[in-house]
Amino acid sequence: MSPKLAIVTGANKGIGFAIVRGLCKRFDGVVYLTSRDEERGKTAVLELNKEGLNPKYHQLDITDTKSLEVFHDYIKEKYGGIDVLVNNAAIAFKTSSPEPVAVQAVETLRVNYFAVLATCEILFPLLRNGARVVNISSSSGHLSQIPSESLRNRFKDPELTIPELSDLMNKFIEEAKQGTQSAEWGNSSYSVSKVGLTALTMIQQRFLSDREIKVNAVHPGYVDTDMSSHKGPLSIDEGAAAPLFLALDAPDSVRGQYVWYDKRIVSWVGQKPKEQ
Ligand code: NDP
Repeated sequence: MSPKLAIVTGANKGIGFAIVRGLCKRFDGVVYLTSRDEERGKTAVLELNKEGLNPKYHQLDITDTKSLEVFHDYIKEKYGGIDVLVNNAAIAFKTSSPEPVAVQAVETLRVNYFAVLATCEILFPLLRNGARVVNISSSSGHLSQIPSESLRNRFKDPELTIPELSDLMNKFIEEAKQGTQSAEWGNSSYSVSKVGLTALTMIQQRFLSDREIKVNAVHPGYVDTDMSSHKGPLSIDEGAAAPLFLALDAPDSVRGQYVWYDKRIVSWVGQKPKEQ
């Protein structure tokens, strides 16, 4: 019988790296550290080898359909299915970035929403019954980040479909290009991308419940990584704790939820909890 299989995207550094570390210690199966850059990924694997941990490695650029398909075929052939998928890879422009909002909108949504969606579309057919999917969102992925009530109502509509959600993401990009996004969407492309990912999580759960697959979104906390310019107070292992809880420990009843770094289930549509 094939061993159980866990996969983490964007795992050569930061929170993804620590999630792989935690999975290697506790997951009863094979763990894949994946990265878009092969050299950075293999260096990360060597680092874990020094700790006595032995993740497998495969290249995976989530924005590259070919890379996703090669990975899909490899996993299908070698293992037949996936038990844990952690969608961790993402980007964030620095607040000091000189790139215009429109450029940031296109690139941020391309990686953090559309590429994660493509990853799911290509890899979900391999999910085994009972599998767990963890979508790394953010406190910025809380619905309260969106100023417009009518938009918030669209995002939380329990009938919302993936094509409709993708249309909403494209609408933001169009508004950012026109410079009219501010009042309804706010000015953070990162927030919009993560709200989109949280909404995607809720939709995915609707379609996968009948196979006992659990899909949850998580805010990992404010973590000391390159993305946060090392301003976050949490270590990467602390940032990996809630994602690992969802991947390994959460009761099966936890599904289609938005989970805070202290492992609390938080209302995605209610008031945003304060970062401690
Ligand atoms: P880092 O910037 O440290 O790491 C991001 C990882 O994603 C890197 O390995 C990067 O690879 C990878 N990546 C980026 N683009 C792609 C791609 N196209 N294909 C594959 N991998 C890619 O960020 P963090 O560890 O801080 O963030 C991890 C997750 O946690 C993200 O989803 C982030 O949004 C989220 N998050 C982080 C918070 C924080 O405080 N740090 C707070 C809330 C959420 P490369 O090294 O090649 O660039």
